[in-house]
Amino acid sequence: MMPETAGLYVHIPFCRARCDYCDFFTRTSVAPERLRAVLRRTRDHVETLLTEHRSMRVRTLYVGGGTPSFVGPECIAEFVRDVCGLLDGPDLREVTVEVNPEDVTQTLLNQLAGAGVDRISVGIQSFDANALASIGRIGSADAGRRALQLISTGWDHRWTADLIAAIPGERPNRLKEDAEILLDYGPRHVSLYELTIEERTRLGLRFRRGLVKTPDNDRIAAQIAEVMWLLHDTGLQRYEVSNFARPGDESLHNALYWDYAPYFGAGPGAVASIPSGDPARPIVRMTAPRSFDHYLSRLDYGVETEALTRRECAAEVLMMGLRTRRGVKFERFSNIAGVGLLDAIAASRERYARFFRTTENGVALSEAGINILDSILREVFADLDATVPPA
Ligand code: SF4
Repeated sequence: MMPETAGLYVHIPFCRARCDYCDFFTRTSVAPERLRAVLRRTRDHVETLLTEHRSMRVRTLYVGGGTPSFVGPECIAEFVRDVCGLLDGPDLREVTVEVNPEDVTQTLLNQLAGAGVDRISVGIQSFDANALASIGRIGSADAGRRALQLISTGWDHRWTADLIAAIPGERPNRLKEDAEILLDYGPRHVSLYELTIEERTRLGLRFRRGLVKTPDNDRIAAQIAEVMWLLHDTGLQRYEVSNFARPGDESLHNALYWDYAPYFGAGPGAVASIPSGDPARPIVRMTAPRSFDHYLSRLDYGVETEALTRRECAAEVLMMGLRTRRGVKFERFSNIAGVGLLDAIAASRERYARFFRTTENGVALSEAGINILDSILREVFADLDATVPPA
C-alpha cells in the first residue's frame, strides 16, 4: 500500500503583544527559558507523532502561530532545521514559516533560507496606520513596506502576504489602496481575509458595547470584488475563497487541508487530524493542551481526542473542498462517507445546478457558487442528513 500523504502544522504560540481581533492561541511576555523549553518539547512532539504514524509521509511543513518570527532569526531557524531533520527529505515539498513585518530583516531571511524554508507568509493586514490602530494590530504601516522591500529583493523563494478586509471605521478606498501597494512588490500569492469580530477578543468587547461598527455588508462585498479584479488583472487567480495565486504558486500545505488529507499538529494547542481505520468514525482529531505546564510535563502531550462520525467527516470534506476551484474528489468523499459523492448531494446539485460543475475527478463550484458558499453548504448539509448514515 502507498504511504498516505500528510501535512505537519507546528504552532508557535508566542507574540510580542496581542492584537485586538485575535482569538488564536498565543501568549505574550513569556520568559526566554520557557519559550525555548516549549520549542524543545514541540520538536520532541513532532518526533513522537512521526514515530507513531510511520505509514504517513509528511509532504508539507507549516510553522505558524502566534508569531514564529518573534522568537528571533537564529532560534526559529534552528527549530525549523531540527524539525526538517526529522522529516524524510525527498517527501518534503514545501516548508512555510509565518513572519510578521516588524521582524523581517535580511538576517532573518538568510537564516530561514539556510534552514530549508522555501516559502514565507507575511502578515501585512494593512499599510494604513489608522486601520491597523483600529484593530489594535501591533507594528507600523511602514514596517509592512520595509518588509516587502526586503523580501522582494533579498528572498529568492516563494512568499505570500495577507490583507484584511472589513476593518471597522476604515476609509472607503483603504482595501484597494492596500492591494495596490502590495501588488507593487510583485507577489505571486495573496490571501485576502474578511475580518470577523470574535466574541472573546478586545474588539469583540468594544463591538458589544457599541463602540465599534462593522462596515456595511454590501460595501464590503463591493470592496472585495474590486480587489479581486485587481488581483486577477495581475495574474493572481482565485483558487480558494480567500486565496489567490499565479498558476503553480498555490499553497501545497493548505491544499492538503482543503483536500481533507491527514495532518499532524505539534505545539501547544495544535490540532491533528488522522485516519482512525474505523469506517464508522473515520477521523480522529487530537488537540494538544494549551497550558504550557501540561504540555511540558505530560509524557503523552496531554492529547484530547475526538473521533468524528462518518456524517461529520462527510460535511467537513464538502465544507473544505467546495471552497476551492479544485473542488471535492469523488474518491476522497466516498472513502470517508461510505457513499458516492453524486448520490450524497444529488438534491443540492439539482437545486443549484448552475453553480456546480463536474471536474475530472469530482465536483466543484463555479466562481459565482463560491461567492454564495454558505447558502450552498446549508443545502448540502441538509442532503447529508438523508444520505450519509450518522455512524
Ligand atoms: S500577531 Fe497574529 S497571532 Fe499574534 S496576536 Fe496578532 S493576530 Fe494574533
